[in-house]
Amino acid sequence: MIYTDNAATTKMSEAAVNKMFSLINTTWGNPSSLYSVGQEAKEALEKAREEVAAIIGARPQEIIFTSGGSEADNQAILSAAKLGERKGKRHIISSAFEHHAVLHTLEKLRKEGFEITLLDVHSDGLVRPEEVETAIREDTCLVTIMFANNEIGTIQPIREIGAICREKGVLFHTDAVQAIGHVPVNVVDDNIDMLSASAHKFHGPKGVGFLYVKRGILLTNLIEGGAQEKGKRAGTENVPGIAAMAEALKEANEKMADNAAHMTAERDRLIAGLKEISHSALNGDALKRLPGNVNFCFEGIEGESLLLLLDDKGIQASSGSACTSGSLDPSHVLLAIGRVHDVAHGSLRLSIGEDITDEEVDYIIKSVKEVVEYLRGFSPIWRDLMTGKKEFIL
Ligand SMILES: *Cc1c(COP(=O)(O)O)cnc(C)c1O
Repeated sequence: MIYTDNAATTKMSEAAVNKMFSLINTTWGNPSSLYSVGQEAKEALEKAREEVAAIIGARPQEIIFTSGGSEADNQAILSAAKLGERKGKRHIISSAFEHHAVLHTLEKLRKEGFEITLLDVHSDGLVRPEEVETAIREDTCLVTIMFANNEIGTIQPIREIGAICREKGVLFHTDAVQAIGHVPVNVVDDNIDMLSASAHKFHGPKGVGFLYVKRGILLTNLIEGGAQEKGKRAGTENVPGIAAMAEALKEANEKMADNAAHMTAERDRLIAGLKEISHSALNGDALKRLPGNVNFCFEGIEGESLLLLLDDKGIQASSGSACTSGSLDPSHVLLAIGRVHDVAHGSLRLSIGEDITDEEVDYIIKSVKEVVEYLRGFSPIWRDLMTGKKEFIL
C-alpha cells in the first residue's frame, strides 16, 4: 500500500504515539487541579506550549490549544470580525480557494452584514500581494489568506502580504495547517498576527491544534465555561494529545530540511512522469508549492473512477479535497484557478509522505498512466474529444 493522501491526514509518528501513551498512563490528571497528578499534567501542557511557541517564533502566552485547524480558523476570524465591528469596520479580505473552515465562517459573517472580498488566485494558484494592497479599505478589519493550499499545494507570499497588512494597520490571519511542520513558518519574520495549525497534518493526533494570537489581540470565545487557556477556550485540555502534537512538531521541524529535499525531488519526478500523459496539466505553480504536493488534471476522465482504480493497485490518493469528494461538485479550488467543470472533474491529488521511495514513485507513474489510458478507452467525453466533436482544453 502506498499512502499518498497526507494532505487529508497523516499517520501519527512513533514519537507522538509514545508520548501520547505515556501521558495517558502517567500524567492523566486535570491540569487545573492543584494536587500532584494535576500539576504534572499542567507541566506537560505548559512544556508543550513552550515547544510549539518556540518553533514558530511566538511566545508561549500567544498559543491557545484548540480541537484542530477548523476551530482555530473559526475563532481567529470571528474574533477579528468582533474587534472590527466595534470600530465600525465590517470588510474582510480573503481568497477564493481557502479551506471551507475559512470560507464558511466568512459566509456566516456575510449573512450578518459583513462585506467579503475574495481575491483571485490566478491560474498559478497564487494571490498577488499588490491585489491585497489595492483591496484594503478604511473599513477592512481582517485579511485572511492561507499559507499553503490543501489541494494544489501552492505557497502564498505570506511575508509580503503580512507586511502590507502591518503597514495598513489591518489584522492578518493565515490558515497555516498545510504549512506548519513542512515549510519554515515564523510569525515574526512572516508578519503574522494570527495563525491556525492542526496536529494531524504533521504526524500528530487528530482533534488537536492551536491558534497563535499576537499579544494584545483580544479573542472571542467559541466555547464558554471554565477558565482554561486564559479563559479563551473553555474545557479541560486534551493534555496527551497536545503533548503528542508538540512532539510531532519538534520532530517535523528537526527533519524539515532533509524531508523537504527528499520529497521535492520525488515530487518533481512524479510531475515529470505524469506530464508525459497527453492532455494533462499540473495544477498550481510548479515551484512555489509544498514539497509533497502533486495535483493534476487529466482531460476526458472522472477523478472518482481514477481513485477507485488506483486504490485497486494499492495507491491511496484523492481527487479534490476529502471534504468535497463524495459530492458531485468539482473542487472550488480548481474552479478558482480557472479550470472548467469538465477538466476539474478529472483531477488527482497525490500528497506524498516523507518516506516515499524512488520505486514507489515509478510505480505510481506507471499505474496512473495505465489507469488514465484505460478510463479514456470507454469515456464518452474522450471519444467526443478524439472525434473533434469537442475541443481539447488541455
Ligand atoms: C485539514 C485542514 C483544515 C482543518 O483542520 P482540522 O484539524 O481537520 O479541523 C483547515 N485548513 C486546511 C488548509 C487544512 O488542510
